[in-house]
Amino acid sequence: MPDKADLESAKRRMLDRHLSGRGIRSPSVLAAMAKVPRQRFLPEALLDEAYADRALPIECEQTISQPYIVGLMTQALKLTGEESVLEIGTGSGYQTAVLAELAGQVVTIERHAPLSAGAGQLFAELGYENVTLIVGDGTLGHADRAPYDRIIVTATAERYPAALYEQLRTGGILVMPIGRQDKQVLQTVRKTSSGPTTTNLSGCRFVPLIGEQGWPE
Ligand code: SAM
Repeated sequence: MPDKADLESAKRRMLDRHLSGRGIRSPSVLAAMAKVPRQRFLPEALLDEAYADRALPIECEQTISQPYIVGLMTQALKLTGEESVLEIGTGSGYQTAVLAELAGQVVTIERHAPLSAGAGQLFAELGYENVTLIVGDGTLGHADRAPYDRIIVTATAERYPAALYEQLRTGGILVMPIGRQDKQVLQTVRKTSSGPTTTNLSGCRFVPLIGEQGWPE
């Protein structure tokens, strides 16, 4: 079982080698990822791998995202501290905590109630008060709190859900993986007054986005 010093040096390695070393240069993103204790979001049996640069299994047959991908997606959101963010796919809550460090308010939707409950418990323990947890189909977004300055989806669909684009503020940014199971690309979509502009960031591999505007169950 790693002790506190082991975890701190593993975290430092993750920051230097897998984040800064691979192009995550935003000082605020690096500071947020230095602060959030990834080990708290994992099953205890995986503590040794808390800062390994890979996705790891969590409850409900889902995964906690790879740190590099969390850094890449968060950096692409260009957060300045004030934004309202909608996240689809709470999972363990790790990405949510990174967002909560960098944005004004975060609304996060998860389809598996036990995952949402586990993440909620951790946010209470870690003192994140700017997060609203919702259990439901995130492909439909959450119109009550729209428009959002930023939207992040941490599961893959063949195209971005129309409901999410609608709930994005003009000038806002949506980041999500697009594609099929074996071939996915991380995309940013900026909503402009003349329509969406899309940029490809990187290849990636995510679990499917399951819902009315995603994949069937
Ligand atoms: N970012 C998370 C983390 O750091 O732990 C990892 C998220 S995991 C890769 C993707 C999550 O999306 C899973 O927990 C899955 O249940 C959830 N998901 C899939 N389809 C969904 C939907 N329509 N609405 C909400 N959550 C969904």
